[in-house]
Parts: sequence; structure tokens; C-alpha cells
Amino acid sequence: VPGRRRASGLRLKDIFIAVKTTGRFHGTRLALLLQTWISTTKTHTFIFTDTDDDHLKAEGYNMVMTSCSSDHSQQALACKMAAEYNGFLASDKRWFCHVDDDNYVNGEALVATLAAFPQDGDIYVGKASLYKPITAHELMEGNQTREVKFWFATGGAGFCLSRRLAHKMSPWARGSRFQETSAKIRLPDDCTVGFIVEDRVGVSMVHCPLFHSHLENLMLLRRASIPHQVTLSYGLLEDKLNSVELKGSFSKEEDPSRFKTLHCLLHPLTSWCP
Ligand code: UDP
Ligand code: MN
Repeated sequence: VPGRRRASGLRLKDIFIAVKTTGRFHGTRLALLLQTWISTTKTHTFIFTDTDDDHLKAEGYNMVMTSCSSDHSQQALACKMAAEYNGFLASDKRWFCHVDDDNYVNGEALVATLAAFPQDGDIYVGKASLYKPITAHELMEGNQTREVKFWFATGGAGFCLSRRLAHKMSPWARGSRFQETSAKIRLPDDCTVGFIVEDRVGVSMVHCPLFHSHLENLMLLRRASIPHQVTLSYGLLEDKLNSVELKGSFSKEEDPSRFKTLHCLLHPLTSWCP
């Protein structure tokens, strides 16, 4: 039920969903998300990109034109994550969630997952990309380095932060600080979030198995469990297309990512679903 209030008081529209994309994916990856899950979360989904798009603006999407460069460098990606984080702080939303443009977000599963946490707590939730904490070498003054170990949630599976925790991160994340922190540990944006939360703020990540990237074998997910997952993905794994295995409305040729098929399973009344 859209807009329904839970015992926690949390509604789907209280969640700021940041989607990271880049100009060359607007017509492909992003278009698929707009047609599927973003059609049900449009008012509180914010598309962070590097290329202006009149079509997106004309259609009323929340497009955030960052001045980040459109390459896959550590700096460019940290610049986008910083823009997402700062955009959330400036909003009135209760939770921040980041996803990539190859993620499907199941809104009902997302709100159910976040509603189970204390709403005024310090929460960082996602899927660890490694089976042990990552080791980083923080640059210190005088060319010294300090070894630090911490967990981080892989950006490609999506992750969320409660407002209270996001606020506590601000000395290392607000304004240009996020990029400075990322440069200090010389690791990507998602690792930097883990470093700030676990090492600087001192809060432990909550490991949640309901978030998924295409770095794991998505074919292993059981059909009955798929509607309960918070995020899904698709992409290449060892040179083969990795996607959830779901029979339904569309063939694999029509819907290689399986996102349309999944969307019709979750929202069968959608106009273009058979
Ligand atoms: N991306 C970006 N700029 C780039 C390349 C990628 O902002 O130059 C974004 C892309 O839109 C996606 C995320 O970074 O949201 C991860 O990119 P991709 O899925 O291509 O790579 P992966 O890290 O999953 O191999
Ligand atoms: Mn990807």
C-alpha cells in the first residue's frame, strides 16, 4: 500500500534513493530503471549524473547534474558519492540509500528492512563484498602510513545510512571532505564510506543478505525468495551475463536483465505488463 505508515512510522517516500549513473548509460541502463522500479519511487529518487539530459528534466525526474568528470576514476566516483551524500543532508528524508544504475530496488522490501531498525539509531546496512574486513593504509603526516581494517558495503549492491549516522559522518564526508578522505586511504568511494563509518565514527556495519551485486552468482537465488530481496543486479561475471533466474512475462532476449519480468511479478497492474 503506497504511503502506508508502519509501527516505526517509516514510509517508502521517507527514503532518499540516490542512483549513480553516467551520460553514456542514460538511454540504456537508466531507461530500464525509469521504466521499472523508479516509476514507483520517482518523487524521492535522485539521479546523479555527469551529463545534462533535457528529456529527463522534461519528464520530471530529480536529476542532479554533478560537475564530476565522466570517467571511472577513483576521484570521479568519489565526487559522485560526495554529491549523493550532500544531496541527502540537504533533503528532509530519514534514510539515505545509494544504488548503481544496474540495480533493481524493491521498494516494499527496502522499507520493510529499514523499518526494522531503530529509526533514531546509527545504522549502516548493506552487503560486504569480501568475506573479511579490507585493509587500508591511511596516509599520515610525514609520509607515514597507518594500517586500518574495516568492513564496507559494496556500492554495486546498494547500501543505506540512517540520518543520525549520516550526520555524524559529516566531519569526514561533508562538502569536499569525502573526496579528501577517499584520497587519504586511496580506495574507492564505497570503501571510503565504510572507513568513515567504522573507523572514524566507530559504528559497525550491519551485514544484510538481501542486497545483491552482479559480483555474486545471482542464478543461485531461489525463485520464491526473489520478491523479498531489497536490491538485485545484472552484469558480467566471468564473461557471462549474470542475472536472476526468473520465468515470467518476458523472454531472455526481450529482458536479459530480468528486471522487467521481476517488475511485473511485483507490480502486475503496470500498464505494459501482460
Ligand atoms: N559509472 C560512472 N562513471 C563511469 C563509469 C561508471 O559513474 O565512468 C557508474 C555506473 O553508471 C554505475 C557504477 O558507476 O552506476 C558502476 O559502474 P559499472 O556497473 O559499469 O562497473 P562495475 O564497477 O559494476 O564493474
Ligand atoms: Mn555494475
